[in-house]
Amino acid sequence: MYNDEGIVMLQLYAQHITTMNNENITTIHEFDFNLICEFFLHLERQGPGSPEVTRKALSFIDNLTAKSLIADIGCGTGGQTMTLATHAPGNITGFDLFPEFINLFNANAAKLNLQDRVKGVVRSMDDLPFGDEELDLIWSEGAIYNIGFERGLNEWRKFLKTGGYIAVSESSWFTEKRPSEIENYCMPHFPEMDTISNKVAIIEKAGYIPVATFILPVTCWTDHYFTPMIKVQEMFLNQHKGNKAVEKFVELQRYDAEIYRKYNEFYGYVFYIGKKI
Ligand code: SAH
Repeated sequence: MYNDEGIVMLQLYAQHITTMNNENITTIHEFDFNLICEFFLHLERQGPGSPEVTRKALSFIDNLTAKSLIADIGCGTGGQTMTLATHAPGNITGFDLFPEFINLFNANAAKLNLQDRVKGVVRSMDDLPFGDEELDLIWSEGAIYNIGFERGLNEWRKFLKTGGYIAVSESSWFTEKRPSEIENYCMPHFPEMDTISNKVAIIEKAGYIPVATFILPVTCWTDHYFTPMIKVQEMFLNQHKGNKAVEKFVELQRYDAEIYRKYNEFYGYVFYIGKKI
């Protein structure tokens, strides 16, 4: 049912807006990009998470001052960035590939009167505009998989000052073994998906002290991600009546939510916080 190439590609883009290291990118029709952007613009977040979780991750970080420089990579429309900015000092730059997300990000910052220290920039995460040792903190919720977990940790490290922090959330396995249905569903999209202990080993190998890891509560997926989507899905289906791509897109999102409900003991998002040594 889900192995038609067009559907799989939409699935990749719809659920996770994967854009890098994917040869299929060149075959995606422009309309599909617009469609996906349009959909996610209606949502506060483009991935699982919550203000409480952002604050919890922030509680492990102790080096910030008004002069700190922070990058939020794969920031989307800035749901987590605004939480970060209201609870931490310093200047934050959000980076995302989609101009529409960045426009809304900057409008959101202005609404909260944060525009002087929170700015969104259209830029790819593999081409960040920083020199060595400039940043105090790198933040990235639900986005590092686009460059690759290991590659992102390695390549972004040089931008951090010694003693600086990296905080990322990433899909992970909670158990050593899991049912094949869920393994087969996730692995093609997230080839680096691994257990928490293996992820921590990668953090250590990349030159960080693993300061903390914690599993995001189920409500980060349900209340903060899947549930707000329901209204937007209905609106979207109404607006694009008879559009097969839209119907598939929504069908896949619903399937994604169903899979999560069935298997959330086995996988989910984990926050990883590391300190550069
Ligand atoms: N951090 C946000 C968005 C997560 S979704 C949240 O938690 O709500 C992943 C985000 O990564 C999307 O906004 C997507 O547009 C962005 N993205 C994908 N590839 C990217 C790239 N190469 N460079 C920068 N951002 C990218």
